[in-house]
Amino acid sequence: MLYEPPMRIILLTLFASFATLLSSSARTADDDWVAITPASYSQLADDDLRRNNDVAGFLDGISVAERRFSENGFDWHLIRFTNVAKPDGPLWMVPHDDENAAFDAMIAAVKDHGGVGIAVNSGPGSLRRQAGYGVCGVRPGKASSCDPNRNFDERTPLFTSAFLSQRAEGQPVIALHTNTHGFSGDGKGGRGEITIVDRDAYRRGEIKARAGGILAVDPQPHMANYDTIGLTAYLAGAGKPPEDTAKCGQAIANAGVHFWHERVGQSDGSMSNYLILNQPEIPYFNAESRADIDLALSASRHAAMVNAYLDGCVSGNKPAP
Ligand SMILES: [Zn+2]
Repeated sequence: MLYEPPMRIILLTLFASFATLLSSSARTADDDWVAITPASYSQLADDDLRRNNDVAGFLDGISVAERRFSENGFDWHLIRFTNVAKPDGPLWMVPHDDENAAFDAMIAAVKDHGGVGIAVNSGPGSLRRQAGYGVCGVRPGKASSCDPNRNFDERTPLFTSAFLSQRAEGQPVIALHTNTHGFSGDGKGGRGEITIVDRDAYRRGEIKARAGGILAVDPQPHMANYDTIGLTAYLAGAGKPPEDTAKCGQAIANAGVHFWHERVGQSDGSMSNYLILNQPEIPYFNAESRADIDLALSASRHAAMVNAYLDGCVSGNKPAP
């Protein structure tokens, strides 16, 4: 019996060490990321960095890291951009690699507002969907490609936490997207995914905001198109957006940005749906800018939407959801 206590301690210590090895949560969030020096940027094989290769000072003040992992049959490559002087800022995300203006806007936002930006690199050619074969987010069955912004779910803990583990306490998640012109069935060949207008009314020649939408008040000409909108989510079960969310939306519209309160019942696997259903305490804003040939024009709309959100919805260090 004399030797039992030390043996138990040894066994417990061994078990604890083993458990630490097994548990990714015991590691710090930074362990999984590999720092990339400027001399090695080309090894990332990222079209967005290649496109901006000749832009002077494009990544000044920004440190770059990458993370690669496989989950549910898909190989992911994430690239992280951190404001070295001000890492404590929003978590920016660009899940769609084919939305070039959103990437450029994210780098500008990291510089302007601080924080950390994460882009999905879907490989050469900057595809929208990741190739592979497996379960993608909330979709039933297996698929040969996965939309990154449908892959946030409890069934994809590696992918989901790869983003959210990089958020600084109290900071919002801000997603940047571009949106194709119009909408299918608009009678003008449109095929965008999101619009601020009520589609049925639009087909009748009437312009009014969709359910949960607020048309921009006196928008600048470049913000006046119906494909450029900011949005936040609210739970369908709540019946209507909570008071601070409603104020936030009105403030954004008052700043000249079309705004949509996205009503969420069942998750579609997007970050907005995932957060409002699983971590509603994390503030989230989504900026959709109309895709245009002129990337700088499209990215300037992202900047305007981000400013409207940060000015109208953030008080102190406590953003409204
Ligand atoms: Zn997108």
